[in-house]
Amino acid sequence: MKLLDLHCDTILRCMDEENGRFGLGCNPFCVDVKKLKKANAAGQFFAVYVDMMKYPDRLERCLEMIDRFHLELSRCGEELRFAGSYDELQHNAVIGKLSAFLAIEEGGALEGKLHHLRTYYRLGVRLITLTWNYPNEIGYPNFEWTHADKGLTAFGRDVVEEMNRLGMLIDVSHLSDQGFYDVATLSSQPFVASHSDARALVHHPRNLADDMLRLLAEKGGVVGVNFESTFLGDGKVGRIEDLVRHIRHISNVGGMEVLAIGTDFDGTMNPVEMTDIGQMGRLAAALAEEGFSEGQLEKLFYGNAARVIRDVLR
Ligand SMILES: [Zn+2]
Repeated sequence: MKLLDLHCDTILRCMDEENGRFGLGCNPFCVDVKKLKKANAAGQFFAVYVDMMKYPDRLERCLEMIDRFHLELSRCGEELRFAGSYDELQHNAVIGKLSAFLAIEEGGALEGKLHHLRTYYRLGVRLITLTWNYPNEIGYPNFEWTHADKGLTAFGRDVVEEMNRLGMLIDVSHLSDQGFYDVATLSSQPFVASHSDARALVHHPRNLADDMLRLLAEKGGVVGVNFESTFLGDGKVGRIEDLVRHIRHISNVGGMEVLAIGTDFDGTMNPVEMTDIGQMGRLAAALAEEGFSEGQLEKLFYGNAARVIRDVLR
């Protein structure tokens, strides 16, 4: 089974832990080349998470993190290659390389300027999570329920339009409910919730309600199921059986075509039963046991995410 994971925070851990001595080739974190190979991954989205409170100069911090992403690729060039389009994903697979996609988690990194958005695109960024847990120039978060009914700002609407024009993936994970509906209305392209689960099963503001899952499906987008335990179940450990429940529910509500994987590895707050991405086969086995067909699993682990990349990225 091929794999394409829409979200991990491994770049941050490489930079912030152990004096930055570990990289993407081989590290003690949840995602590296070795583990991706074990998972038979075709590609991985690497998010650069910009902490706006810790780094008031958001542009500078984001550029520093993007630089680290490209440095890591130059160090792992034999195995891991940049991908910015469907063709590059396919080409990398043909020559036996893993694809690395670059994402920004925190639209505040734009500092309210569309020219920064275009510069990030030129640096390889292909997905932006419009907010993290803080309000920013684009919109409001669903960190708690406080901002749920607040939609995109005027700048946020411009960002959606410009990301559509450039061919970038709009990511609504973390975004307020009204922000989600605004993106669904405004975006001319499919969009994604890169790392969220089902609210009908766990009433958490980071999860998507059933009507959101249906809207996402209608637009041709995907939700990457998140391995974080507080989104999945009792909050102690992100269990495989809980992932199976959420995947079952999401496929019942939005169809199998709306499902993807968004592990949130190296960003989750709590322990995960599959301790690293190399263990992804355990989820596939559990789903097969529950009656999911090989074709359905292909869509979940790879096909749907690849379809959105094909439809949106240029
Ligand atoms: Zn996140």
